[in-house]
Amino acid sequence: MKRTRPLYSGKAKSVFLTDDPKRLVMEFRDDTSAFDGEKIEKLDRKGTVNNRFNAFILDKLESAGVATHFERLLSNAESLVKRLEMIPVECVIRNIATGSLCKRYGIDDGLELDPPTFEFFLKDDARHDPLINDYHIQSFGWASPTEVEAMKSTTFRVNDVLGRLFRSKGMILVDFKVEFGRFGDQLLLGDEFTPDGCRLWDVETRKKLDKDRFRHGLGGVVEAYEEVASRLGVDLETPIGS
Ligand code: ADP
Ligand code: UDP
Repeated sequence: MKRTRPLYSGKAKSVFLTDDPKRLVMEFRDDTSAFDGEKIEKLDRKGTVNNRFNAFILDKLESAGVATHFERLLSNAESLVKRLEMIPVECVIRNIATGSLCKRYGIDDGLELDPPTFEFFLKDDARHDPLINDYHIQSFGWASPTEVEAMKSTTFRVNDVLGRLFRSKGMILVDFKVEFGRFGDQLLLGDEFTPDGCRLWDVETRKKLDKDRFRHGLGGVVEAYEEVASRLGVDLETPIGS
């Protein structure tokens, strides 16, 4: 399946139409952004690492019964996905307090959260992705009550499945963000799951293995993503289609 024309270009990925109106090509670029697009850099190999990492994780989620938009890898930096009508909210689960949560509520960084917290944010960089609640989503017509419940329960399922997967390879899934969209009458997990949209710490040393390395200028960003990939057994080398 070949891409025909550009549909949308975000901060880290570009999305293209194909001959099939129900399918898109998603290209992972090397661009990396933080702070609502205020800090931007190109990081060598990141597009390839994230594309292949995302394919591995979404495949694991499918096997665990989470329906996603992912269909197949097309090249090192491109995947074929189902075209979704995206719901403009970010679903975040946190197992350990860090980042914006600590700033917002004065919670100690590193506090274990039991139960894990769930938050919705509006996907709107110009408004700095404000925290929203179930009622905002329903009252403003962004999603139905059934979809709100499905987004929550599926995000918790993702937390269970991936929390266990990362833990088995010596990493803590600290927090993460996922997005959902509609495909006919189905609600599918869309976008991506990569170290760009989650926090992962080494269980022993608490070394950060995610985009916080970029946010805080710690260096070794893509090297850390590659380390996570290698621990999980993600194939970053074999040419696609061979
Ligand atoms: P951002 O929009 O946050 O800058 P990206 O650079 O990752 O993000 O751009 C990817 C865009 O594609 C996002 O707006 C995301 O919501 C959208 N998207 C992801 N998966 C799909 C899909 N399956 N169908 C349609 N749009 C999608
Ligand atoms: N996150 C994301 N995109 C966003 C906001 C957050 O992928 O636009 C992820 C982020 O990587 C982290 C989790 O969601 O894994 C919680 O992020 P937080 O609200 O702490 O964001 P911060 O403002 O600290 O980046």
